[in-house]
Amino acid sequence: MTQPTEQIRPEPRAGIMDIAAYVPGKSAAPAGVAKVHKLSSNENPLGASPNAVEAVKAVAEKMEFYPDGSASRLRNAIAQAHGLNPANIVCCNGSDEVLGLLAQCYLSPGDEGLFTEHGFLVYRNYIQAAGATCVVATETEERADVDAILAAVTPRTRIVFLANPNNPTGTYIPFDEVRRLHAALPKNVLLVLDAAYAEYVRRNDYEAGVELVAASQNVVMTRTFSKIHGLGGLRIGWIYAPAHVIEVLERVRGPFNVNAAAIEAGVAAMADRAHVERTVAHNEKWLTWLTGELTGLGLRVTPSVGNFILIHFPDDGSHGAAEADDYLTARGYILRRVAAYGFPNALRMTVGTEEANRGVVASLAEFLRS
Ligand SMILES: *Cc1c(COP(=O)(O)O)cnc(C)c1O
Repeated sequence: MTQPTEQIRPEPRAGIMDIAAYVPGKSAAPAGVAKVHKLSSNENPLGASPNAVEAVKAVAEKMEFYPDGSASRLRNAIAQAHGLNPANIVCCNGSDEVLGLLAQCYLSPGDEGLFTEHGFLVYRNYIQAAGATCVVATETEERADVDAILAAVTPRTRIVFLANPNNPTGTYIPFDEVRRLHAALPKNVLLVLDAAYAEYVRRNDYEAGVELVAASQNVVMTRTFSKIHGLGGLRIGWIYAPAHVIEVLERVRGPFNVNAAAIEAGVAAMADRAHVERTVAHNEKWLTWLTGELTGLGLRVTPSVGNFILIHFPDDGSHGAAEADDYLTARGYILRRVAAYGFPNALRMTVGTEEANRGVVASLAEFLRS
């Protein structure tokens, strides 16, 4: 049947409009709030390395030039810091970009992409955008469960996304569990280890995945400059992958996907070990403090190894996450609602400055008494 002309318009592929667009953390408080503490996106409370700031200023003087399309200086800096071959690294416009490219390249309609119950939500969007089917493995105690992941694998599975540590739970699985997962996965399934928070983890049984990538043909590791390096606004991520995966990504990525400011800031950030160490020490101190204080208020928190903490609120109907969020927002503390992650009654809080951390705890104490 012919349609009236005004109703004919370009339509996206089937399934695209079923995707729930990613909702970033809020950044604004109501008018009249004197100071806003953004604790909703796991940003570095110490900011970026001063050297990265200087590097970006220098780029501002020559913005007419295209960046180096292969981001060689940045790949070399990453490779040197981590002891990797730069040929096995691709840099990207935030690690989100490369997660999406992996889904586009390795999933077809009818295939399945797997992630865990409270896993990072961009995996869902990218799997759906590729026209594939999402399969969600249950977690145990808010942690990825290798047996549940393996039980969810089918002949159609092509990708498993595992954030380790995971966002928004902050939990991790020891690397021998990752190895056990890999050993039991079919060899044609790509295991994506998203190690966005690796630098924060202080546990002897944790590894980000470098050795497993090097020793396998079906494992990749993604990393980001957005979290520990405090460069979320510049969008810099990278992947360490076997050569055959690099060859795929080099065919589909944008030719200048990492901009000139990002390249220079990334190189400077990589060289500033002291800034990374200061950030880790700050996080270690305040994550421990927050965990103790919030637990002391009678709130359950999920044990976190990242730079954020998942806070669970009472089910009494009047002191829930929504009420707490409103209460804190009115006082300038912006946390993250996580209902979309399967936590309707929890908030995720980024470890902030001392002032922000103390302020949130004091406000929550008042809130719970109110
Ligand atoms: C923040 C985050 C990322 C990626 O961030 P980019 O800014 O795109 O590099 C990836 N995975 C997880 C689990 C994250 O929390």
